[in-house]
Amino acid sequence: MARYKKLFAAVFATAAITLSGCGNSPVPTDGLPAEATGAVTTTVGTTTAETSAEEKTVNKVRTAEELAGKKVIALTFDDGPNTGVTGEIIDIAGQYGIKVSFFVVGQEITPESAEMMKRAYSLGCEINSHSYTHSDMTTLDADTIKEEMRKTAELIYDTVGEYPHFFRPPYISVNSTMYECIDLPFISGIGCNDWEDDVSVEKRVRFLTQKCSDGEIVLLHDQKTNEKTAEAVRQAVPVLLEQGFEFVTVSELFAAKGITPSSTDEIIYNFATVSGQKE
Ligand SMILES: [Zn+2]
Repeated sequence: MARYKKLFAAVFATAAITLSGCGNSPVPTDGLPAEATGAVTTTVGTTTAETSAEEKTVNKVRTAEELAGKKVIALTFDDGPNTGVTGEIIDIAGQYGIKVSFFVVGQEITPESAEMMKRAYSLGCEINSHSYTHSDMTTLDADTIKEEMRKTAELIYDTVGEYPHFFRPPYISVNSTMYECIDLPFISGIGCNDWEDDVSVEKRVRFLTQKCSDGEIVLLHDQKTNEKTAEAVRQAVPVLLEQGFEFVTVSELFAAKGITPSSTDEIIYNFATVSGQKE
């Protein structure tokens, strides 16, 4: 708990405060044995050549013209992949034909959870980086930060045949060293503290159906124990579709709004706007 508080103190000490953060437990996973994680690279890597070409044709990024005039939101999920809640979110995406984005933790990628990433990618969902160990990167040196990013990017590439386009900092904790070392746009989002178990399904549904707005990045978690978010998404998606929302990937969200997200300016995006904030 002390660590949890310390991390939040670090978050709030930064200039890039956001309305919500990725504040789930400091290490979100049971963690794989190092040797099991190491094996993934080889196992997953062998399937890339057979699957990536076919999936890429499915994973079409819609253009600004195709999304013109639509109310767009990007549902994003942190802390997977896993075969439980991640799979449920993908089922919902498949059922409604919608796209969402996953920010995966490298050390969570196993042969089994990699299959979830491939399923998501084949539906047009986007796979982005949420670091390798889910550490508070403000405590890491430059080389370690680069290594976290490199390992996760390679695992994502080996699994779906495409490198990540965006980075979500663990705990939304950022500093200048991170901005210098990481050449991807930083993404936060608006959330409802859905890593806290006492936030009920009803509250999550209310947040999703009443608070989401055009151009917004919605920050949720597909941690393996987060059934409440899976249920909330299941209930909220048809309501949001009824409200006229188009569910897009983070890449498509920026394209739809004509924004080129910066990976050099110290911006962390909650919305697809020039400033990253609601305008
Ligand atoms: Zn996280």
